[in-house]
Amino acid sequence: MLDSNGSEIIENAVRKGGVSIVTGSSVQRIMGKVENDQSVGSVFLTNGQQVSCDVVIVAIGVIPRTELVEGTEVKLNRGILVNNCMQTSVPDVYASGDVAEAWDFTLSQNRLLPLWPLAVAQGKVAGYNMAGNKTEYAGGTNMSSLKYFGVPVVSIGIANPKDQNAFEVLVKHDPEKNLYKKIVLKDNVIAGITLVNEIERAGTLFYLMKNHVNVKRFKQELVSEDFGLAMLPANLRRIMCSGCA
Ligand SMILES: Cc1cc2nc3c(=O)[nH]c(=O)nc-3n(C[C@H](O)[C@H](O)[C@H](O)COP(=O)(O)OP(=O)(O)OC[C@H]3O[C@@H](n4cnc5c(N)ncnc54)[C@H](O)[C@@H]3O)c2cc1C
Repeated sequence: MLDSNGSEIIENAVRKGGVSIVTGSSVQRIMGKVENDQSVGSVFLTNGQQVSCDVVIVAIGVIPRTELVEGTEVKLNRGILVNNCMQTSVPDVYASGDVAEAWDFTLSQNRLLPLWPLAVAQGKVAGYNMAGNKTEYAGGTNMSSLKYFGVPVVSIGIANPKDQNAFEVLVKHDPEKNLYKKIVLKDNVIAGITLVNEIERAGTLFYLMKNHVNVKRFKQELVSEDFGLAMLPANLRRIMCSGCA
């Protein structure tokens, strides 16, 4: 979700809030309390450390529950395979939400994207199509918007492009102000947005990303402090303000 610059700002904020962070290690064993082994008392980490605790929260990802269609004609990968109408490989069977591998417009491929607004959008598309109104899902992408100990963060799409040659990366980093902005471009179209501590223009940036707007003429402005609607070409502003892409 974040690269090392973004993570460092968050890590500092979380540590300042009194939280200990252990990286590069995972939980090996959960132990009961000495006086009552029905209650959690500590965890052993793979680095040999033992940490006392009263609660263990496991947050290691999402596995879709596909058992309903296992062994049927409905094709599966990690999730249920669907087309852009959310139709499965069986014509009258539709799938949407966490269980479906739907279109990611950033990666240009279908994949699992377990997010609530995407599940809602996909569910609507499935419903329309089941009712005979042919509708296509426009796609979604990874989106997170959180506040860590007072530090707001928005991360959308590709945060850390693996193939550096295929992407252009624009960065504004001010460690003193805990400010970090990173825009990842592919062929002058936004493929990734990371905003730490200055998230006000996330909506405008996401509009440009979702509508595959070519930002070549104004790309240097995307990470500037003053970036906003006023910096966009007039014709684009008109379209954005009238609400039609
Ligand atoms: C801890 C947590 C935090 C999250 N936070 C966020 C967040 O901040 N923002 C965000 O966008 N998303 C968040 N999500 C993800 C979001 O909750 C899901 O993307 C969304 O709920 C998906 O909706 P869904 O209808 O596809 O699946 P679900 O909400 O999981 O609903 C599926 C339902 O189907 C039922 N079911 C499964 N198998 C069967 C079966 N065989 N027969 C009958 N019923 C069955 C299940 O019991 C469940 O009720 C979070 C998820 C978790 C777990």
